[in-house]
Amino acid sequence: MFEIEAKTGEASGSSAVQGRGKAAVSGGAGRIEAFAGRWSVPAEPLRRVAEVYPFRTSAHFERLMQRPGDPIWRQVVPDPRELQDPGGFRDPLGEEERSPVPNLVHRYPDRVLWIVSNRCAVHCRFCTRKRRWTDSVPADASLQAAGLDYIRKHPEIRDVLLSGGDPLMLHPSTLEEYLRALRAIRHVAIVRIGTRVPSADPDRITPELARMLASYHPLYVNIHFNHPREVNPRSALACSRLADAGIPLGSQTVLLRSVNDSEEVLRELFLDLLRLRVRPYYLLQMDLMESTAHFRTPLHRGLAVVQSLRNRVSGLAIPQFVVDLPGGHGKVPLVPNAIHRVKQDRVVFRDFTGQNREYPLMPGEEDELKRFLSAEWKQ
Ligand code: SF4
Repeated sequence: MFEIEAKTGEASGSSAVQGRGKAAVSGGAGRIEAFAGRWSVPAEPLRRVAEVYPFRTSAHFERLMQRPGDPIWRQVVPDPRELQDPGGFRDPLGEEERSPVPNLVHRYPDRVLWIVSNRCAVHCRFCTRKRRWTDSVPADASLQAAGLDYIRKHPEIRDVLLSGGDPLMLHPSTLEEYLRALRAIRHVAIVRIGTRVPSADPDRITPELARMLASYHPLYVNIHFNHPREVNPRSALACSRLADAGIPLGSQTVLLRSVNDSEEVLRELFLDLLRLRVRPYYLLQMDLMESTAHFRTPLHRGLAVVQSLRNRVSGLAIPQFVVDLPGGHGKVPLVPNAIHRVKQDRVVFRDFTGQNREYPLMPGEEDELKRFLSAEWKQ
C-alpha cells in the first residue's frame, strides 16, 4: 500500500529566509527585515512583493550574492516590478487544464509530470509555478494516491517526471515512498527528478540520499543552474555524489535578462557544468508567467547564444534552446537557420563563421528538400 508520509525535509539544516504568503508574512517579516538589514537595503519594498509572492532563499544562495542586484540576487530577491506586470498568465503552460487528477500533468502521450512537493530551496522570482508557492503541501495521501492510480491505469506512461516545488526538498523517506511505488509499476520505464537543490542548497545531497536514489535506477536528475557562480565546491560535491551513484545528470537553464543573457556567461556556465558531469540539456526561453516580464529576453538572444557556441565549444556543452508554448502545447526547439539556399545539386549552408559552404545533394534530392523546407515554413 502506497502511503505518503506527512514529513518534509525542512528540518535538515536549511536556513531559509522566507515569507509564507499573506497569512504568514508577519512571521516571515522579521526575517525579511533581517535580510534587508544584512544588505543595507530598505525592507518595505521587499515585504510588499513578498506578501503576494513569498520570499525564500537559502543560506548557501545568499552566500553567493556579492551585492544587491547582482545575478544571484536578481533570481531570488523580490522586485517591485513583479507587481507592475500587467501581462502574462497565471498558468502559462496550461498545466491545470491538463491535470486529469490534482498535481499530475499529462501533456505528452508517454510522459507525466507529477508535482510531489510545493517546497523549494529558493523561490526563483521567474518561476513558472509561482502561483503554487502558497498552496498547501500536496504530499497528502489521498491527493497523491489519485496521481499514482492514474499512472497505474495508463500503460502508455513510460516516463514520470517528479517535480514541484522540488522533490529533493521532501524527506528522503517520503521521496523513497514515491520511487518505490513507481518502480512497482511495470510500464514506468524511467523516472526523472527535476531539482534546484544541488545548486541552491547542495548540502542536502548527502551520501545517504545519493545511495537511496541509486537503488531506483533507471533514474535521471535534471538540475536547474542559471549562472556560473552557482558552480562552486559545494554544488560540485553534490553533483559528484549523484554522478558517482550512477545517476545521469542534465541541466536546465532559463535565459534571464540581466542574469545570464550573455554569450560569455552562458559559455562559462555550460563548460563548468560539463566538469561537474552535468550535461547542459535545455536553455529555456522564459515562460509567459505573470509578474516576470522584467526577466524576458527577445528570442534572437537565445538563438545568438546557441550560434556563438556552435563549433566553438564541444557539442556536449550546447543545450537545446527551447520555447515552451503558452497554453500547454509543448516544447519546441529553436535553432539558428543553417540552410542558406538550395540550388540544383547543392545546398548552401552557413557555417559558424557566417561563411557560405556547399554540400552536394543526391540526385533528385533537391525537390524533396525544397518541399520539406517549404512545408516546415508554412506550418
Ligand atoms: S526551484 Fe524550480 S519550482 Fe522552485 S521556485 Fe525555482 S524554478 Fe520554481
